[in-house]
Amino acid sequence: MIFKCKNCGGNAIYDPEKKMIVCPFCDSENNYDRKDKETTYGLEVCPECGGTIPVEQYDSAMKCPYCDNSVIFNPRVEGEYLPRFVIPFEIGKERTKGMIRERFKKFKFAPSDFLSEARLDSMQGVYVPFWFYDYKTRAAYEGEGTKVRSWTSGSYRYTETSYYSIVRNMDIPYEKLPADASIKMPDEIMDLMEPYDYSKLENFKPEFLSGFNAEYYNMPAEQIESRAKQKMESSANSILSSTITGYTTVREKSKQISILNRNTNYGLMPVWRYVYEYNKQEYPFYVNGETGKIVGTAPLSKKKVLFYSATLWFLLTVLLASINGILGLV
Ligand SMILES: [Zn+2]
Ligand SMILES: [Zn+2]
Repeated sequence: MIFKCKNCGGNAIYDPEKKMIVCPFCDSENNYDRKDKETTYGLEVCPECGGTIPVEQYDSAMKCPYCDNSVIFNPRVEGEYLPRFVIPFEIGKERTKGMIRERFKKFKFAPSDFLSEARLDSMQGVYVPFWFYDYKTRAAYEGEGTKVRSWTSGSYRYTETSYYSIVRNMDIPYEKLPADASIKMPDEIMDLMEPYDYSKLENFKPEFLSGFNAEYYNMPAEQIESRAKQKMESSANSILSSTITGYTTVREKSKQISILNRNTNYGLMPVWRYVYEYNKQEYPFYVNGETGKIVGTAPLSKKKVLFYSATLWFLLTVLLASINGILGLV
């Protein structure tokens, strides 16, 4: 499907700043038709020009390389691939470029075109498929705690040890623990994109994808559930230990974190992806399209580093020690 402006026939796309479908050609707002073309999975035909679009296995939306319209592939957003919800892009491309510039403007060792308009303009907005896990968790704990008290009376020193039985039974609900279901997106980077603000969740509408790339889930929810379980278990453990305080010693007898009830949902999250290529190496940057959080690795220009090292070697040593080749920006 594509969305077409009723006024001029141009390709209408979702505008994150205006939070509606707009026509970039005549500025019409929320004035569009949907144009569909019957197609089967694997043969994605552009409804506008009829060209067969070379989609990869999991792509569900992308630009038609022949006519430049933003096409959403019906069989990949319907039925079993219909997302339950989506967080629409909140931050548009121009604002994202500005944020990257602001973040790195003082980063003197980056190659000179790192923040150039041409390079930054290559960034793409991608809806990344996520599984969301709800758990009703029970944390059960039994242990023995001691409290020790000492005092002196006359020529005797007394020590009193009191023993306490510690029992905890807590029901802890978790909602929408996220794990990305995209092979292309590195798991650790996607974890760093968190947190998302779920108050912006919307029921899925294909209109949100117009103007962006999207994937549907690359693997079933069960396959990546261990990532969500890990997040849940580490949270349940820390909640549990936060309730056991004030003892001199604690001996754990048993601890069990079990899932009483689970539920999964499929949704799409917005990510801007900027891949900077330098000396045949790729430096990808990811920006949370909702919150603007930036995660990435900035390249160091050898030439510039050498230049600076001739004049400011002492400063460079300090800098390199802290940069250590790459910047992990969280
Ligand atoms: Zn128009
Ligand atoms: Zn086309």
